[in-house]
Amino acid sequence: MMTGSIQERSWVEIDLAAFSNNLRFLKQHLHPGQDFLQIVKADAYGHGAREIAEAAINEGAVYLGVANLEEGKLLRIQGIQAPILILSPSLTSEIPAIVEYNLVPGVSDLDFAKELHTHLQGREYLIHVKLDTGMHRSGIRSEEAMELYQAIAGLQGLRIEGIFSHFASSESDPDFCTVQEQRFFSFVESLPEKPRYIHLNNSAASLKGYGMGSNLVRFGILSFGVNTLGDVSLNQHLQPVMTFVSTLSQIKAIHLGESVGYNRDWISESEGRYAVVPVGYADGYDFLLSNRAKVLLRGKLCPVIGRISMDMITIDISAIPEAKQGDSVTLLGNGDKAIRAEQIAAIYQGSAYELLCQIGRRARRYYKRGSEFLHSAPLARRDFVARDFGDRKLNEIISAALSQRLQNDEIGDLIYREILRSFFADRDRDVHYRKDFVHEITFRESDNPQYYQAETTLSYRKVLDSDSFIIACARSDEQLRGYFIRKDVEYRWLLDDRLELDESSFKVSSARINGLELDCEVIRRDGSLEIHCSQEGLATLVGKEVLFEIDTVTLYPKKLHQFSVFISELTQGVNIIFNYPPSIGGVEPVTIFSGQQKNPQVQISKGRVQVYSQRDQWIFPLSGVVFSY
Ligand SMILES: *Cc1c(COP(=O)(O)O)cnc(C)c1O
Repeated sequence: MMTGSIQERSWVEIDLAAFSNNLRFLKQHLHPGQDFLQIVKADAYGHGAREIAEAAINEGAVYLGVANLEEGKLLRIQGIQAPILILSPSLTSEIPAIVEYNLVPGVSDLDFAKELHTHLQGREYLIHVKLDTGMHRSGIRSEEAMELYQAIAGLQGLRIEGIFSHFASSESDPDFCTVQEQRFFSFVESLPEKPRYIHLNNSAASLKGYGMGSNLVRFGILSFGVNTLGDVSLNQHLQPVMTFVSTLSQIKAIHLGESVGYNRDWISESEGRYAVVPVGYADGYDFLLSNRAKVLLRGKLCPVIGRISMDMITIDISAIPEAKQGDSVTLLGNGDKAIRAEQIAAIYQGSAYELLCQIGRRARRYYKRGSEFLHSAPLARRDFVARDFGDRKLNEIISAALSQRLQNDEIGDLIYREILRSFFADRDRDVHYRKDFVHEITFRESDNPQYYQAETTLSYRKVLDSDSFIIACARSDEQLRGYFIRKDVEYRWLLDDRLELDESSFKVSSARINGLELDCEVIRRDGSLEIHCSQEGLATLVGKEVLFEIDTVTLYPKKLHQFSVFISELTQGVNIIFNYPPSIGGVEPVTIFSGQQKNPQVQISKGRVQVYSQRDQWIFPLSGVVFSY
């Protein structure tokens, strides 16, 4: 347990090593030629779809399975590129997004296929056809299957990559499994052309050896280490991936004859001690566990006494005198004495599947591999989807981001999502950020042997806030800092203090908005230079997204041996190019990026260094590059 680093009152630990071990065990049961698809629906049964997807892909998963569009979309936004199958029937209204996020729909009827076909305009698109072989939930009924299958196959552009069906009772009814198998394979046999993937088995069916003749298996519950097969000898191979832990928040005495909790369901039969644990049915600890479950405290099982409340349970700790407030309590999971999900679910004749989904929903998740802590995932993973919000942004994000200097991918990602979620999910205000940011700096030899001539061109898109802005040339770090804070300054430069500040040492050669050349008025203020850029035509563009272009020519001291470019505003997509003359032997870029990703791409060629991010990637202020030469 990693209690040292965890501040939560209750939390979930996800052991990715246990997950990988389970997959390795399940893979031993694949027939030759069989691949596997990892089911990650319902946030991977409460384990975190992204982390489970990545771990499964590492173990060789060729496909991922989700319940619906939203789940698939979230994985795509999180950077998962593996093929994703939507298992449940989708709505026709979801088709544009399904196509946009390149998700493979499970198709159960002709109307959906026709509608998808009209969206494709001739392009090819993969689908899997779902057959109902007896479960009688989604899928095409067997008797009409051939007709519909052929109609779907006839729709130009739709490519049937897979055909699948699902067992109704893979764990308990071998006879009915055989019936379903026969229906499925007799249909597959009758197809003139077989799809690439033929899949029928869930994880239990795979272990039971069904589905000979299929070439893909869908691994779900067993991969999470829940033994739904009833054969306890499998427990050693199926290690619970999820552990649910809470903390003793209060210890109290109880006297003979006193009751604990709602409805006075539990009456003490002796003098004793009990404790409050801050977990209830709202945390997924089922109400039906009242007076029935046991939890693990200091290596011993303690009975849950009284009713489960919404946010609290009470446990009898009379047998553990050394128990202290702050002790951790394991409610579910692996350990010396495992409390397995299937055992807990059995206590109330519930479903282990449901239990995992419920518990995974409220608690913060901590990922580990064996005893190695990896990272934690936000409490509510409502991921920020740039396109969902259009250009709505918040100014505060810039200052919030400014206060964070993110030095770590994991924490960076976490903070990034938290910031965006808290700012974007709850409020509705505009923040103007830069996008398609391109900054090119070219050093050339100048007449002055101590300086390079530095030509800079800057361009980006941004919503125009006002009908004028400032380009500033400062003489000291302090002045420069002042210009970084001001919101009306679009570009700043720090001039070497040995140079006279005039138009020969710093010159704006052009400032344009949407190609419109602006009037530049040069004003001296406290020893620095402010170039005020405006134009009558700008007033009509205020509030609209425009293209800024700013070109300057100035001088840069050779002896500094480094040149820095800062990202001073929230920016989406950055491209910084540094060109240098042959007299500079080589240039080393040192990048300090905070945002979605810590490391931008770097390309180095003769006389040129380019540092760039992907176009849709967010970069926070305080990022930048130092080119040292
Ligand atoms: C959820 C699901 C599975 C996974 O089943 P497990 O019993 O968890 O292995 C497989 N196939 C389909 C179609 C599913 O919906």
